[in-house]
Amino acid sequence: MKKKPFVWPGKIVDLVMTSLFRRPATVRYPAEPLPMPERFRGMLLYFASQCTGCKLCMRDCPADAITIRKVGERRYEAVIDRGRCIMCAQCVDVCLKKALAISPNVELAQTRRDLLRVVFPEKLLDRGEPKAPPVASNSADGPARVGGEGGGS
Ligand code: SF4
Ligand code: SF4
Repeated sequence: MKKKPFVWPGKIVDLVMTSLFRRPATVRYPAEPLPMPERFRGMLLYFASQCTGCKLCMRDCPADAITIRKVGERRYEAVIDRGRCIMCAQCVDVCLKKALAISPNVELAQTRRDLLRVVFPEKLLDRGEPKAPPVASNSADGPARVGGEGGGS
């Protein structure tokens, strides 16, 4: 039987060898935290202490995802349906009191849809969520925005 001549496999060997020593292109989430870009639009937050109950956010929400309810004298709570929210941040842009903010938190998954309906205030600070941003003193510049100019996009 005639012996086949050896054929060098070509570029594939070079690729395998360089890949062995290269950093992986994938991330090990959820085993390791996944840092999101600074202005990424994730979980919506509500800061009751700054809310005046004007309901502009409700009027502007295109997904009917936020409800502001009066719970006492100058006290309000927000019901946010994270199953409906599309993280457009329109409510954040329209809120003059900076009572709403978009966080980069993307860990919204729940096993039941009703668990996506969240009533604020909840113990946000216990979970390491950001504190409420200060209210802009100069309202002549238009609506106060979270995350600088541009409204958290
Ligand atoms: S727009 Fe702001 S201040 Fe007005 S009800 Fe909504 S969260 Fe409260
Ligand atoms: S981020 Fe957009 S969809 Fe979500 S509650 Fe605000 S306005 Fe509605």
